Amino acid sequence: MHTIDQLKRPLKDLRLSVIDACNFRCNYCMPAEKFKSNYKFLKKSELLSWDELFLLTKIFVDFGIEKLRLTGGEPLLRKGLADFIKKVKNETNIKQIALTTNGYYLKENAKQLKASGLDRLTVSVDSINENTFAKLTGQHETLPIILDGIKEAINVGFSPIKINAVIQKGINEHEILELANHFKKKETILRFIEYMDVGTINNWDDSKVLFSSDILSQINEFFPLQPLEAQYYGEVANRYEYTDQSGEIGFISSISQPFCQNCTRARVTSDGKFYTCLFASSGVSLRKILRSHYSDKHIQQKLIEKIADSWAKREDRYSEDRHLKHPKQPKTEMYQLGG
Ligand code: SAM
Ligand code: SF4
Ligand code: SF4
Repeated sequence: MHTIDQLKRPLKDLRLSVIDACNFRCNYCMPAEKFKSNYKFLKKSELLSWDELFLLTKIFVDFGIEKLRLTGGEPLLRKGLADFIKKVKNETNIKQIALTTNGYYLKENAKQLKASGLDRLTVSVDSINENTFAKLTGQHETLPIILDGIKEAINVGFSPIKINAVIQKGINEHEILELANHFKKKETILRFIEYMDVGTINNWDDSKVLFSSDILSQINEFFPLQPLEAQYYGEVANRYEYTDQSGEIGFISSISQPFCQNCTRARVTSDGKFYTCLFASSGVSLRKILRSHYSDKHIQQKLIEKIADSWAKREDRYSEDRHLKHPKQPKTEMYQLGG
């Protein structure tokens, strides 16, 4: 079962958000002033259950999904994640499962995640300076815990680990070399992500974006780099290696070099909404179908039809058309979509 969209793009990747809640308050995702400690995230009954997530994953694998990325909110806040990974690995033909996490609970979970069959790990670290990190995430004294988690994950066999860093002008732009230097080793691949206009809650504007080309030239001056070939169709990062062979680094440039033409990613939020673009205003509810009172067979058929129909109609190319969009266009938030 394969499907292509209006721009002839196949459905190849699924990003599944397993929870909307998070223990961090990153300023560009869940700003602390808007997400107070009593903020009401989704209720347990509103989240898709692990069984519902499994059924969806199985259907998406039948559609040709090769890579599943688990995300959130903070996915390690949800109990049962490792068992879910194990089940997907054992009972579907998925090629690769990856996890994006803020790393706070990584140390105690790394071993179990490895044993579950998780293939790849991405940890978000926007600064290795305690003060900046606290300012960015709203969390004090957490950076060492995250760095320890990364160490443990390397020890249990997750190397190389991808490290996501979002650079915001005036906030952490002065720490680019420090970040590069810290993660310049075989065990970690630092990826700079251009600050994107996902959602509306972060009051994004383009004056806060530092382009990859500026970051690259800063790094190249101190630590010379050479480009690497793309590894697969639809790869979003432009990859480079240090000429001293000390490792790799990547740049994800959704603002300055949009990659919609090769975008093969679908997203499902933790309450079961199917999105065909990170910048879409709304998604299609698969939970409604999952929880309808039809037979299992009928539900499965309805889900297949809905996914196939949504993908077949897909014309999304937000990043390429960004300049044409109205700044007030409603958009779903990053903590709901998971990146
Ligand atoms: N909580 C986990 C984490 O932070 O790794 C997973 C979810 S988080 C939404 C996924 C990724 O999205 C993180 O690497 C985060 O830095 C990135 N992100 C969030 N908002 C962003 C934005 N406006 N622009 C670029 N990246 C963003
Ligand atoms: Fe939480 Fe990740 Fe959003 Fe930061 S980026 S607030 S860690 S979901
Ligand atoms: Fe894909 Fe939408 Fe991002 Fe373009 S803007 S790369 S279509 S998610």
